[in-house]
Amino acid sequence: MKVTDSVQYIKGVGPKKKAELARLGIATVYDLLTYFPRTYEDQSVLTRIADLRPGEQQTVSGVITKLQERQGGRRGMTILTALIGDGSGFLKVTWFNQKYLKKQLIVGRRIFVTGRAAYAFGGRGQFEMSQLSSFEILTEETGEEEAAAHCGIQPVYPATERLNQKFFRKLLQEALAADIELPEVVPASVCQEYHLMPRREAFETIHFPKDFAALKAARRRLAFEELYLIQCGLMLLKKKVQQSAAGIRHAKDGELLTRVRKSLPFTLTHDQESTWQDIRGDMERDVPMRRLVQGDVGSGKTVIAMLALVKTVENGCQGALMAPTEILAEQHYESFCRQLQPFGIRISFLSGRLTKKQREAVYHEIAAHETDIVIGTHALIQDDVQFNRLGLVVTDEQHRFGVAQRTALEKKGSCVPDVLVMTATPIPRTMTLTVYGDLDVSLIRELPPGRKPIRTFVRRPDRRPLIYRYVHSQLEEGRQAYVVCPLIEMKEDSDLPSAEEIYDELRYGIFQDMACGLVHGKMRPAEKEAVMEAFYKGEIKLLVSTTVIEVGVNVPNASIMVVEHADRFGLSQLHQLRGRIGRGSYASYCILVSEGKTQQARERLTIMAETSDGFRLAEEDLRLRGPGQFFGAMQHGLPDLKIADVLKDSDILIEARRAAIASLKRREDLDFVLPVLALQYREQFQHITES
Ligand code: ADP
Ligand code: MG
Repeated sequence: MKVTDSVQYIKGVGPKKKAELARLGIATVYDLLTYFPRTYEDQSVLTRIADLRPGEQQTVSGVITKLQERQGGRRGMTILTALIGDGSGFLKVTWFNQKYLKKQLIVGRRIFVTGRAAYAFGGRGQFEMSQLSSFEILTEETGEEEAAAHCGIQPVYPATERLNQKFFRKLLQEALAADIELPEVVPASVCQEYHLMPRREAFETIHFPKDFAALKAARRRLAFEELYLIQCGLMLLKKKVQQSAAGIRHAKDGELLTRVRKSLPFTLTHDQESTWQDIRGDMERDVPMRRLVQGDVGSGKTVIAMLALVKTVENGCQGALMAPTEILAEQHYESFCRQLQPFGIRISFLSGRLTKKQREAVYHEIAAHETDIVIGTHALIQDDVQFNRLGLVVTDEQHRFGVAQRTALEKKGSCVPDVLVMTATPIPRTMTLTVYGDLDVSLIRELPPGRKPIRTFVRRPDRRPLIYRYVHSQLEEGRQAYVVCPLIEMKEDSDLPSAEEIYDELRYGIFQDMACGLVHGKMRPAEKEAVMEAFYKGEIKLLVSTTVIEVGVNVPNASIMVVEHADRFGLSQLHQLRGRIGRGSYASYCILVSEGKTQQARERLTIMAETSDGFRLAEEDLRLRGPGQFFGAMQHGLPDLKIADVLKDSDILIEARRAAIASLKRREDLDFVLPVLALQYREQFQHITES
């Protein structure tokens, strides 16, 4: 049997089961083998009946001393009860509606049972177990050996109502017993160097471990294999970029750049400076730059992007800056015009909002090289945009600008432009290595001097009148405020107030003398922009919004933010939201309103109040909410990890990465890995396996 064969070939899978399995995403034998246990039950430790603890999953081995059968319930089900003794005490075990067991349950036979113990009703401290998670009766056929197997570590699968634990355990046993070809996917040299368990053994062990040490080794092997292959793919991608049509070799900084730098109203921070040196160095090599700049909100990434763009202009090239929203693109456009037009640098704006005629005019400017820097939204990488010597592409807060988009750029024109990816989403290092594994990374950790820290408070909803009275007093002093809500409109199944409701409550209530605005994701872009613009200009004082304001908006006069139902947001998201304030010279306040019903909710929000370190918050977020959320939000186009955990397996990741780097230098390893990638990760790494 091949791993690519349908699960139907495995004993016990008919058309019905096949359909059920398909709903879990299991179509092939390989899908089944990689349907890894969620956790394990340790039945290898036997508990003496006298030592049972209520509520815990435990395994007991004893002899059946008494049996009872009765009919019960309205439908007259059969209830079998056995009393089991092990010398230390007695345990009552009950089976419902399993008449067929009568033949096997015989007084004097030995039995193993695993389940949760509870005090028996009226049993004076005696324990009972019903709804066993498993049991094994020793008969002539079931010898000691099988019983011993029962006492092993049992896998627990993500089961469903129709496909239960027993089914999965049996199915995987069948699958592993069937003669499946399981070719090795990691080169022999790597297996040897990193002491990896053989692949077949790893699959057998991950499902049916002999002991925890073996389980650990099996898990390590499979996680290693997954991370190793992805690392190989990402690094091959990077290598391909570097070897493909030469990049642009920018000259050393010239006069224009020096003059622009001198015109800046501040000196760069230490981190900004070293990031700039990284970028400058990359741009001056003929290998195309692929760099990620990670810097917390407000750390000053824009100016770095500006310098890089000026550098490309100085070299006779065009530059592009791509922002995720119209308003952000427009803000960048304005500040670039202010800073750079005095130096004769020509700047254009391109977005979906322009009329067709306006757009075509900009296309023409670009193609004729009548402009130097184009700033805009996604419209920038559309096919009709023909650059005339594109030297650098900068993307700001574009998580969707993933591996695929980066590669698409390489197909635009004869020389490959440099790429700079900027993000304020603090991505833990382990994730940078997987998701952005084809990029080099620069970090800006410090904020420019003189920032007033934002003070963050967590308050219960009953304090809202007080909170909003305070907000009102701030508006009277000329400041502006954000109110952020998790929902847009009223939902029948939710008792959360929506943004619309809160907007009405505020504008007809305490803020009736102030200009209020509402902005949310369901509004048409033009409406949204109009409201944002009015807030930007100070015409709107209080802005009620959903998370649409999350990225990049810069309104220095806004100094206060209230987040309703703050527990509904992730920490990183709250951090991004909070980054909208504290951008001016005013003392800023962020008030998180939450019932704080659960311990976890309280804990999370307390962390928000304690730290403004985005990296720490991201790690807490990952720890508390798991990597799924993070990966989901990134839309990076990489395969889901089936077994490796980017947070917990950082050690394995680092080893796998080291192994991948070494493999790329060995012909025989490469010849081995390329077909594996083509088979297992065709979608993700198409362009490298094609050639
Ligand atoms: P972000 O990294 O969030 O994109 P910005 O680039 O928008 O941050 O910078 C935030 C603010 O900090 C801007 O008003 C910018 O002019 C200012 N700024 C950037 N670098 C410095 C610096 N070295 N010293 C003082 N202010 C700076
Ligand atoms: Mg920015």
